[in-house]
Amino acid sequence: MLAHLYPHEMNIYGDTGNVLVLRRRLEWRGLAVEVVPVGVGTAIPPTTDILLGGGGQDAAQGEIGADVLTKGPDLRAMAADGVVMLAICGMYQLLGHEFLTHDGQRIPGVDVLDVVTRGSDTRLIGNHAVDTAWGQIVGYENHSGLTELGPAASALAATSVGKGNNGIDRTEGCLTNNVIGTYLHGPVLAKSPAFADELIARALRRRGDEIDLEPLDDAVALRAAVVAAGRPR
Ligand code: GLN
Repeated sequence: MLAHLYPHEMNIYGDTGNVLVLRRRLEWRGLAVEVVPVGVGTAIPPTTDILLGGGGQDAAQGEIGADVLTKGPDLRAMAADGVVMLAICGMYQLLGHEFLTHDGQRIPGVDVLDVVTRGSDTRLIGNHAVDTAWGQIVGYENHSGLTELGPAASALAATSVGKGNNGIDRTEGCLTNNVIGTYLHGPVLAKSPAFADELIARALRRRGDEIDLEPLDDAVALRAAVVAAGRPR
């Protein structure tokens, strides 16, 4: 089951597309899929296999901030239990310890990832391609929050041309067990099919389902990735 966190408040630059991509890749293989929206005041279903959360502006993060904290215990327990999570940009920041906005507001996070984010006066913008253990991941970054990884956090990838977590240490995103935070919008999974399948494979493995994922025709997705990667800003 896919849980879509804050579909109304946290969905910029096409991030809901990540949910659609996973749904389709499961359906194309004849695997059952259910998508459950999880909004303010709604609990995350305990049967969640993959949790997806998108980006949002600072204001949207402030609006849902209190609700995110109420979900903190569940999010930490699920992360510890190996639930697969993909959090983009604003939601990535909220899975960390805190986000200090550029105008001095403190939005506490839920401590799932060992990262902290501070707002800045510059925006890090552009298409961004990074190499990971599952091939190239291509997305679009647009953020002014600068994220630093703590000692318990590992970067998802190293940056080459893009800015990534903070524009300084050449890291992009964070990977801790099955929890992934990234600045790549786009939606990132539409241009990163191997990454999408990695999330599905991890979720199936956690359930004890030994299913070999049938290869799909990813020609269009890979072509889109080449075009986007060729247009960094
Ligand atoms: N408000 C955050 C920032 O600009 C997140 C933006 C986003 O999710 N794209 O850093």
